[in-house]
Amino acid sequence: MSTSNPVNLLDFDVDGLVAWFAGLGEKPFRARQVMRWMHHEGCADFDAMTDVAKSLRAKLKEIAVVRPPVPVRDSISADGTRKWLLDVGNANAVETVFIPETNRGTLCVSSQAGCALDCAFCSTGKQGFNRNLSAAEIIGQLWLANNLLGAARDQAADLEAGERDNGRIISNVVMMGMGEPLANFDNVVTALRLMLDDHAYGLSRRRVTVSTSGIVPAMDRLRDECPVALAVSLHASNDALRDRLVPINQKYPLRELMAACQRYLERAPRDFVTFEYVMLDGVNDSDTHARELVALVRDVPCKFNLIPFNPFPDSGFLRSPAERIRRFASILIDAGIVTTTRKTRGDDVDAACGQLAGQVQDKTRRTVRLKQEREIRS
Ligand code: SAH
Ligand code: SF4
Repeated sequence: MSTSNPVNLLDFDVDGLVAWFAGLGEKPFRARQVMRWMHHEGCADFDAMTDVAKSLRAKLKEIAVVRPPVPVRDSISADGTRKWLLDVGNANAVETVFIPETNRGTLCVSSQAGCALDCAFCSTGKQGFNRNLSAAEIIGQLWLANNLLGAARDQAADLEAGERDNGRIISNVVMMGMGEPLANFDNVVTALRLMLDDHAYGLSRRRVTVSTSGIVPAMDRLRDECPVALAVSLHASNDALRDRLVPINQKYPLRELMAACQRYLERAPRDFVTFEYVMLDGVNDSDTHARELVALVRDVPCKFNLIPFNPFPDSGFLRSPAERIRRFASILIDAGIVTTTRKTRGDDVDAACGQLAGQVQDKTRRTVRLKQEREIRS
């Protein structure tokens, strides 16, 4: 008979599972064996773990499960971008997006249902915060995507294994889905460790990126505990503007953020930080802003990724025109900063940056409130 409250083994990194197995009187190698079944083979059925002792399988069936989140919708964009909507209980859902490119496949993973940080141009932020995802729900997105994409590949006779990096379908992970990863630090780090561990996904640190809006103390902790590639959502060239667009700036202003980036680079797997910069028409996209940025990041080895704003209902912002983005990029490039402009992928299925809305309950009813306020004003 199984217990009513089983332990989800996807919640453990390797050390965690070894410790939990020790509590059962089981050896570390058994934990690693089960780890490989779960994460290499995508196996959720203890009975199928054929080289695990039968007695242990029976014990695990009683007290444990391997339970990834449940996909409730699967959309494929015309450009091949694939988006899954995952049910995380209590009428909440989060999204995971797979972006195929010629020489890599990137999975964009969510870390929270909603987000408390309330950036002015972000639809996740507009929903307010609902809850942190568990480690199982975070790594479960990779588990699920691997399984679902693997099954699709096996069916497609014209796709040969080995076509992508080491035959992996998912070669890169970016924590750029819904939520602020560093505000759910412990669960995110457990999931990151699994992404990096050879007994699980074995990705190199350079291919796993955390994107943060700039929670300075947590950036220092990440550097010390699990330094992966870092992207920072900058979006403004001075404190007055950033206070408005990215409110966490009021707590950790630009000077502190730049210093934290420099400290991070002492241990980072790459020798630059990626600054993300959403292009908002008439708000942060002038030549003056570009020049101010060049001065701001003078002492931080960095690359810039300009993101054309992805609109959503009632956002109150417009995307900068293509010509403006080109001109802005050229000022950064002329100053010697490597600058790319993000291609908008998957926007026909609302999978582009900042469009990930899931179906998180709007606890604050903020969207409705804002709409009412706007109606009153007009
Ligand atoms: N919370 C983290 C990671 C998730 S957001 C962070 O803020 O970095 C991933 C990226 O998409 C961030 O750079 C975010 O600022 C950007 N983004 C949010 N809303 C957007 C929108 N509507 N259009 C374009 N980019 C957006
Ligand atoms: Fe949260 Fe990132 Fe959206 Fe800001 S941009 S509200 S930190 S998810």
